[in-house]
Amino acid sequence: MAQQKTQIVVVGGGAGGLELVRKLGAKFGRKQHDIILIDRNLTHIWKPLLHEVAAGSLDANLDEVGYGGHAVRWGYRFFNGSIESIDRTARTITTAPLHDEHGEEVIGRHTIRYDYLVLAIGGISNDFGVPGVREHAMFLEDRPQADRFRQKLLNACLRTNHAHQTGDADACVRVSIVGGGATGVELAAELYNAAKALRHYGLEVFDETKLQVSLIEAGPRILPALDETLAMKAKQELENLGVHVLDNTQVTRLEDRAVHTGSGAVIEADLIVWAAGVKGADEITTMSDLELARGNKIVVRPTLQTVTDDRIYALGDCASCMLPGREQPIPPRAQSAHQMASLIFTNLVRAQEGKPLKDFVYQDHGSLVSLSRFSTVGSLMGNLVGGRMRVDGWIARTVYVSLYRMHLIAIHGWWRGVGLIMLGHVNQIVRPKLKLH
Ligand SMILES: Cc1cc2nc3c(=O)[nH]c(=O)nc-3n(C[C@H](O)[C@H](O)[C@H](O)COP(=O)(O)OP(=O)(O)OC[C@H]3O[C@@H](n4cnc5c(N)ncnc54)[C@H](O)[C@@H]3O)c2cc1C
Repeated sequence: MAQQKTQIVVVGGGAGGLELVRKLGAKFGRKQHDIILIDRNLTHIWKPLLHEVAAGSLDANLDEVGYGGHAVRWGYRFFNGSIESIDRTARTITTAPLHDEHGEEVIGRHTIRYDYLVLAIGGISNDFGVPGVREHAMFLEDRPQADRFRQKLLNACLRTNHAHQTGDADACVRVSIVGGGATGVELAAELYNAAKALRHYGLEVFDETKLQVSLIEAGPRILPALDETLAMKAKQELENLGVHVLDNTQVTRLEDRAVHTGSGAVIEADLIVWAAGVKGADEITTMSDLELARGNKIVVRPTLQTVTDDRIYALGDCASCMLPGREQPIPPRAQSAHQMASLIFTNLVRAQEGKPLKDFVYQDHGSLVSLSRFSTVGSLMGNLVGGRMRVDGWIARTVYVSLYRMHLIAIHGWWRGVGLIMLGHVNQIVRPKLKLH
């Protein structure tokens, strides 16, 4: 009987998972091992671009990667499905039945064998149990949500434009963003960038003065991951644009078009976006007996193997990785997912060769926050800049843009990656600045 090939199953083709299957496919190909990627979506878009997709300043169709084509190119198999359970004894995972938009079953419940399993399913927004969040807020967790937000935003802008044309001088679009971290700040700035351009796209009397964005942060200041000077600079930039920044403001309840705060104030809003932190998806709690940390995150050792099972690894936003000498787990960022994917690749190769596994070493390269085309602020870290260095302006913008370029190269390889970067430049020139459909 022919010997079964080693089967490496990666669940989640996001910032970390897609880079990992590309490397595994390139290294082992189909002949040596069976590399399988499972994702609940058919396409990948780099999550840090979602606020641009939501505001309409990025056409996701141009940046999306179809898993099917990518799999053929890099020698792995793609399976469209959502993980439902893990049987650690039988070493299998089961995916939930897949339905089309009319509720008709496309693929039934499906079981896949694994020798090694990597969980890279990302995270979801943490609602911290605040009543009304799931019912009344929108999230920016994937492309469908970003598209839905853009459609609602455009409708609100069209309504306001029409109201002004018919004599209502007070009409405006009110957006409340809960969470003053990078996602909330970037979205707030991007909305003003889009609003400035809408006049040229048929909304003749609409401009940024008809947009009222409130950015609501429970902590004493926005951008807690940056140092205070940079956070103040970002706050100033946002206020110059017209954003109403409310720090020290606890949201206690959401209702339809209303945000209630701890002080008893009610902020009325046509659109509410919840961007107040990340936790592991709820299904993680029921899919297996893997040990979880606070916020439904899978506890991993420094080798990135789960503490419960040597054959199961976890990376990125769904993993809780506490390294010796650090007080906080590795932060949920694209650079963490990227670095973890690299280490898991190394460790999977070493495991097959019978070599000891390596421990994860997190290199904090700093963090950057883009205020759309208005500004970029952040800090860079590393030997090259001699420790931690504050940056803003074009240096920060260049580094920020290069992060996505590095991701493109990581998932497409050098030649195709560089080709796509050049194509991106051409698209910026020849394509419309806003996507309004
Ligand atoms: C709007 C926004 C802006 C951001 N900006 C930045 C930034 O500027 N810099 C930065 O470092 N980080 C940023 N982040 C965070 C960064 O995007 C994440 O830390 C990073 O994407 C995590 O990578 P990951 O591989 O763990 O998961 P993800 O990239 O989230 O990928 C998870 C994948 O798993 C799939 N999946 C989920 N559940 C299942 C399931 N049950 N079954 C099968 N597949 C599943 C999803 O479809 C997805 O493809 C931002 C995030 C958002 C939302």
